[in-house]
Amino acid sequence: MKNQRRRRQVLLFPFPLQGHINPMLALASMLHSRGSPITIFHTHYNSGAIDRSSKHPSYRFIEIPDQVSNFRSSSQDNVLSLIRLLNDNCTEPFHRHLAQVLSDTDDDTPCLVLDMHWYKMNPVAKVLGVPTLVLRTGSAASLNGFIALPALYRKGILPSRAQVAEWEMEAAVEELPPLKVKDMIAVGNDREELLSFVALDAENARTSAGIIINTSDALESAELEKLRSDLSLPVFAVGPLHKFATRPEATNSSSLWPVQGRQDEDRMCMEWLDSQDPRSVLYVSFGSLASVDRSDFTEMAWGLANSGRPFLWVIRPGSVKGLLLDSALPDGLFGNGTAIRSGIAKIVEWAPQRDVLKHRAVGGFWTHCGWNSTLEALTEGVPVICTPFFSDQMGNTRYMADVWKVGVELRVPLERGRVEGAIRRMLTTGDGEAMRARAQELQRVLANANEEGGSSCQAADDLLSFLSSL
Ligand code: UDP
Repeated sequence: MKNQRRRRQVLLFPFPLQGHINPMLALASMLHSRGSPITIFHTHYNSGAIDRSSKHPSYRFIEIPDQVSNFRSSSQDNVLSLIRLLNDNCTEPFHRHLAQVLSDTDDDTPCLVLDMHWYKMNPVAKVLGVPTLVLRTGSAASLNGFIALPALYRKGILPSRAQVAEWEMEAAVEELPPLKVKDMIAVGNDREELLSFVALDAENARTSAGIIINTSDALESAELEKLRSDLSLPVFAVGPLHKFATRPEATNSSSLWPVQGRQDEDRMCMEWLDSQDPRSVLYVSFGSLASVDRSDFTEMAWGLANSGRPFLWVIRPGSVKGLLLDSALPDGLFGNGTAIRSGIAKIVEWAPQRDVLKHRAVGGFWTHCGWNSTLEALTEGVPVICTPFFSDQMGNTRYMADVWKVGVELRVPLERGRVEGAIRRMLTTGDGEAMRARAQELQRVLANANEEGGSSCQAADDLLSFLSSL
């Protein structure tokens, strides 16, 4: 713990999605441990994951009314609507509450750190004279993708997915190496809605005083260099943020899912891991938003069971499109409890992912390649099977499989034979061992970056000095 002198107050406003709350809380923890008083704005939507004053006794929390109580829980299909709605509904209350904070503050004007998705809050902060930085919770490569997307669409090289032939999907995107057309950011089916969202997010970053990004120069130096030269703004690559966090609640995520008896379930899945052989288990989780088709789900289940390897599988509410958990499990495989009774499988609705990935029994991670999961796998040196669904997950997969070479790409539609083959390759072959060795090397590189003298540690110090200078 360093630099304990009292610093300028930092206000943080995470976007209420799991993959955005976790890195913002980790950033809060890192800033707090270096002497910054912390205030967290949060929406009522998903406040269960964040408003745990008892867990964060030294933070101040301010709830922003959002009027989205009728919104179904977020998923990959409605996330753009949710982002738009929350921005529309929170602008006025955020203005009111921020003005109140300013009138209550005797010290220097606080600084604000906004999630990049809060594009309507930046102008509010400007009107009130509050200096604002933006937190990008994805990779530098994906932010470059956001910035490039409108121009790429205008050039006509990225027509909507439905119109693109297979061979065109394999074509390289020259502006964004090593991405292929099929790796570009994609959310939903409405191209105009996606373009407008991407433009607003990129504008939010461009008009801020600086960008904090949950990545490391040790991992994405060329991508960060491009970002810095394109944006001409200070860019602080302070990741992986969860490895800086000193508070326990910021090192494992608070779930958005109100799962009955979750504490017990967490403990039981760790106990189950304790009973498994070293590096024998495949951990399977597709994050908080992705949902699979029923046919993919069935193929996953059979592929997992046929591989004969033990697995810990997170099936949260909403994991399978349009189905409840009980009716989703294929009869004869899990329906009668065969795999579970034989001890080969453990199924939970939510897992303490960071602890799971640290566990000696885990030999591989089948992931959707959300950026947090990607970083969490790398920081624990765990090789991955990548099945991306939307947003930046396809781009993250390209880096994991082809650049860092720590993963196997396994795209939908899934087929049980291919699933089984990927699992065996990861857990039983020399190829899998080589991926693990590279993942462990990156683990060391990232750990060094967060140590005194490392690039992320230096970026964190620079960020603190920058916040004081604003
Ligand atoms: N996570 C978890 N338990 C689970 C599934 C996910 O703690 O069972 C956490 C995971 O550690 C990560 C976050 O939820 O920090 C998911 O973020 P990511 O960017 O990987 O994916 P998203 O949910 O945004 O698609």
